[in-house]
Amino acid sequence: MIRINELSLPLDHSDDALRRAIVKRLNIRDADLLDFTVFKRSYDARKKNSAILFIYIVDLEVRDEGKVLARFKNDLHVRPAPDTRYYPVAEAPANLEARPLVIGFGPCGLFAALLLAQMGFKPIVLERGKNVRSRTKDTWALWRKKVLSPESNVQFGEGGAGLFSDGKLYSQIKDPKFYARKVMHEFVRAGAPEEIMYVNKPHIGTFRLTGVVAKMREEIIALGGEVRFESRVTDLVLDNGQVEGAVLANGETLHSRHVILALGHSSRDTFRMLHRQGVHIEAKPFAIGFRIEHPQGMIDKARLGKYAGHPALGAADYKLVHHAKNGRAVYSFCMCPGGTVVAATSEPGRVVTNGMSQYSRNERNANSGIVVGITPEQDFPGDALAGVELQERLEERAYELGGSDYCAPAQLVGDFIRGVPSSEFGEIEPSYQPGVRLGDLGPSLPAFAIDAIREALPAFGRKIRGFDRDNAILTGIETRTSSPVRITRHHDTLQSLNIRGLYPAGEGAGYAGGILSAGVDGIKVAEALAKALLSDMDAA
Ligand code: FAD
Repeated sequence: MIRINELSLPLDHSDDALRRAIVKRLNIRDADLLDFTVFKRSYDARKKNSAILFIYIVDLEVRDEGKVLARFKNDLHVRPAPDTRYYPVAEAPANLEARPLVIGFGPCGLFAALLLAQMGFKPIVLERGKNVRSRTKDTWALWRKKVLSPESNVQFGEGGAGLFSDGKLYSQIKDPKFYARKVMHEFVRAGAPEEIMYVNKPHIGTFRLTGVVAKMREEIIALGGEVRFESRVTDLVLDNGQVEGAVLANGETLHSRHVILALGHSSRDTFRMLHRQGVHIEAKPFAIGFRIEHPQGMIDKARLGKYAGHPALGAADYKLVHHAKNGRAVYSFCMCPGGTVVAATSEPGRVVTNGMSQYSRNERNANSGIVVGITPEQDFPGDALAGVELQERLEERAYELGGSDYCAPAQLVGDFIRGVPSSEFGEIEPSYQPGVRLGDLGPSLPAFAIDAIREALPAFGRKIRGFDRDNAILTGIETRTSSPVRITRHHDTLQSLNIRGLYPAGEGAGYAGGILSAGVDGIKVAEALAKALLSDMDAA
């Protein structure tokens, strides 16, 4: 297999143009190109005045591959293609008795369980929330009727925190073993669009993700695994530094010496339980801020110029960073083109925002988090849970500022920059449901964060014209940008620093940030667990 990098074609190229471009680039006969697949397709819109082109990386098979490669031996863009297929690292023996437990069924737990099931380890998944169908109803009840279900919401339930999301599937993790391809491949097998395998910034959108997750659960069960919903783990059974099982809220105890902890960043009661039981946890940095909304058409125009609205490009995104005078970094986070701002609390009396979109990304507004990085050393000194407590305090204040009924506090950008409360919307309507209460966001975050965001918005306006327009909307607050704790693990065994057999994983443990990286981490811990379990069996 040969890989060609950097084949450029116009946005409107015909179906057979890529094949012709490959044949031309390699200077071979058409009949000698046996097969090809697109490995990646991206576009570069940074140079405002030149045409936007698609840039392809293609993998292909040709007759006489050796000869072709020899002809291009000095060409860095024509190389042997790496093998990106996934090879399982273990196979469970027929006499397997010990079944691993997977706590949490977000992307991390989902992929950990799927991989374990595919290797024959018949995992038992314990998920505190409900299945996708019931969970969807519960989540909409908050958005439409202001009724929160603390165990079944945007954060908790089948599919985890990313189920009601933009379903963005990219990350900047180092991935020498191509685990991200395995994640994408499994999503496609379960019904995600094929294009996620090759487009540069793939996304599934919330509705499609729902079906995909349910399909993957069916596969885990068909392979002998078990998925138990409404099964909150309230305690671990620990014995002399070794995990021996987990206790559920209904009092049932499940025994296992191999337990994956894939909790997500919002399971605060479980973090407290782990801390109380002496599992090693430390505070880690995260970020706080607001969601900002602009017309998507404005972002398209700023980013794509005359190509704005081109169907091949879709709704444009952005990524922004500003280093404020007070030493704080302000950046855009989890940008959702053509999406909505969502109520993302899992706890009564608290308000927190996030963003989501459908596959089509055709809602009127673009939104993203505008957040300020904070660290335990500088901003929340104390014990391992000080970051959790800070999040709780800020979310409570946001609830009060929003009117104590799950509406969110909001302010127009112009008023926020000038430091005056807002009382009337302009041209842009906020998308947050169940609604927003206009006022002053100043008291919602610490002063250093407010100052830094006030300074950053005009700076962003110089990069994207209109970003700091008066009538853009800020909705508060964003606090669950990543986990406020790390449940530290050994880098080789992936087991907890002080509890054998316990595998902290995914976003909640501080080892992932986003759907794709959480899925990848699930694969890593499944592999580590499978190998350790087999070696325990050998030793017994
Ligand atoms: P989670 O997905 O949080 O899953 C953890 C699971 O564990 C939950 O289902 C929870 O109920 C369960 N659990 C917790 N404690 C217990 C317990 N004691 N017993 C049993 N079960 C328990 N990321 C992206 O990459 N792209 C996006 O577009 C995107 N959009 C997002 C939009 C929203 C609205 C939100 C909230 C998040 C979004 N994210 C997005 C972030 C992404 O969802 C997370 O990074 C990802 O889900 C983390 O995966 P995880 O499996 O580690 O944890």
